[in-house]
Amino acid sequence: MPNLPLSPIRTGGRSVRFFDQNLNVDGLSFNIRRSDRRKTLQITVERSGELVILAPPQATDSDLADFVQEKLVWVHTKIEEKARLQQRAPVKEFVDGEGFLYLGKSYRLRLVDSQLIDLALKNGRFCLRSASKHRAREVFVSWYIRKAQAWFEKQTLQCSNRMDVNIEEVKVQDLGYRWGSLGSGGRVSFHWKAILLPPRIAQYIVIHELAHAHHPNHSTKFWTKVEQHLPDWRARKEWLAENGMQVEGL
Ligand SMILES: [Zn+2]
Repeated sequence: MPNLPLSPIRTGGRSVRFFDQNLNVDGLSFNIRRSDRRKTLQITVERSGELVILAPPQATDSDLADFVQEKLVWVHTKIEEKARLQQRAPVKEFVDGEGFLYLGKSYRLRLVDSQLIDLALKNGRFCLRSASKHRAREVFVSWYIRKAQAWFEKQTLQCSNRMDVNIEEVKVQDLGYRWGSLGSGGRVSFHWKAILLPPRIAQYIVIHELAHAHHPNHSTKFWTKVEQHLPDWRARKEWLAENGMQVEGL
């Protein structure tokens, strides 16, 4: 028997169309994630801009459509807010005097003719060899990765002892829209951009990821674990949500 095409449902005069795991409303595309553990509907706007509906398994298509309609104003506000935060990230030009972040401080760039290495941080300045300017971004990223590797290894070692977590490997890489990720087999990864953040914020990312070794989700138990090791986690989390985007202009 051929698959039956899904027919559009009309709600509030707008066209709503359902696909497998997708719901399109008012020009917005939502990914539907159903879970046995969910009791209520929830919409989230991910850092990537992805729109997600978290739903209990029994939620019907029209439940979802009604819920989205109800929340449309909120969703549009959230999307605008994300766009505003992202706009603040300036695109780097790698010119003299331009500021570059490292552990929360901004250092001005100076292009230098005579330098053996591509990039060095000395006397409070980033010194970039002029001959390397054409690949400045790559040079900066590999500098940040090197620094991040050392910093996050040290922090992870300290925190993992305190938090009774066994970590086998610390990786630093481009994690897209995530700051950190705890994998299986005791592997924890951090985004190299996290080394641009103030140390207290980067520490929060470490503790957040290691707390996932005890609780894989963001349940109340998880946040209690975070709080046990970082009583002011909430302020740090808020700072990251508000300012974290700034470091993404490189
Ligand atoms: Zn998490």
